[in-house]
Amino acid sequence: MKFETRAIHAGQHPDPSTGAVMTPVYLTSTYVQEAPGVHQGYEYSRTGNPTRSALEGNLASLEGGTHGLCFASGLAATDAVLKMMEPQDHVVAGNDLYGGTHRIFTQVYQPMGIGFDFVNTGDPDQVRDAITDKTRMVWLETPTNPLLRITDIAAVSEICREKGVLLVVDNTFATPYLQQPLALGADIVVHSVTKYLGGHSDVVGGALITSDDALHEKLAFIQNAVGGVPGPLDCFLTLRGTKTLAVRMDRHCENAAKIAAWLEADSRIGQVFYPGLESHSGFEVASRQMRAPGGMISFELAGASEDEARKMVSRTKVFALAESLGGVESLIEHPPSMTHGAIPVETRRAEGLSDGLIRISVGIESVEDLLQDLDDAIG
Ligand SMILES: *Cc1c(COP(=O)(O)O)cnc(C)c1O
Repeated sequence: MKFETRAIHAGQHPDPSTGAVMTPVYLTSTYVQEAPGVHQGYEYSRTGNPTRSALEGNLASLEGGTHGLCFASGLAATDAVLKMMEPQDHVVAGNDLYGGTHRIFTQVYQPMGIGFDFVNTGDPDQVRDAITDKTRMVWLETPTNPLLRITDIAAVSEICREKGVLLVVDNTFATPYLQQPLALGADIVVHSVTKYLGGHSDVVGGALITSDDALHEKLAFIQNAVGGVPGPLDCFLTLRGTKTLAVRMDRHCENAAKIAAWLEADSRIGQVFYPGLESHSGFEVASRQMRAPGGMISFELAGASEDEARKMVSRTKVFALAESLGGVESLIEHPPSMTHGAIPVETRRAEGLSDGLIRISVGIESVEDLLQDLDDAIG
């Protein structure tokens, strides 16, 4: 079945006891057993819960994988992958990762003896050169945050296969509707379902998807042994979100493409970062590996003044000044002082993230209202 149909139905069946079409929120911690060890597949809700199982099946299907595992947040999902590592193991990671991912790598796992090297994964040769005989895993995001840099997943996966290391792709920015890392050779897909998958800014959650049975078994063991699982209501809300993923993403992308083109043509604006623009360094790879370039745009005002950027993001009326992304509502922020404030200023500048950068998560409102709002706020 096609993506749009699976988004609505995969993992879900009418409730056998009542016929309820929507998956019930199974608010239960435990399940009755007929005799010790004889039950209907559920014994305790850290190990398994039917609402969570429905979401896990749904996300596995959307990513084209065979197994899904859900977690209490994107970082709890990330943590579960890292728990497969042992001291002395080495990870090659992208140098433009989500800040919280960089933090758990360098401040939680590095002190425990896991080695990390950060490279520009957009250049597959840099990945190849960074892999040592201790490397177990390559971890990348594409598009990245906030500069929307693109990595050729198939090219990196070929190197990983050749070297015998796992490839993990954080697909939060693209979503499975726009990009399918498992089909391009990734071993594990990571999600913050907090963003586009949930889609309504009302739930925090994470997920892992794989088609490798042995990897799934290890990760499911960690999920149960460590216990960073989401509650059934969060799973229900996420399931409600994924049903409309395809139509939401179509509108996010349509609005973002119009706004990116408008920004690029405006003399009050400096650089615009959007993988759907031919001026973007990742345009060609993005056109090949993504269905559409997504709903995130970063830009600078002409002159790239930090002061002007801070004033501009405080003046919008439809775009809310807030961190996070991927909800139906449009958000605007200033990465250097908000989402990326924890990155040392020299590192930030060296990686091309200027003090005057502005990031928007384009929502699904009327694009005319969004353009008017930006026009007024730029002033
Ligand atoms: C938000 C985010 C995360 C972390 O997810 P949480 O749900 O906030 O824990 C990881 N990766 C990316 C790309 C994100 O945007």
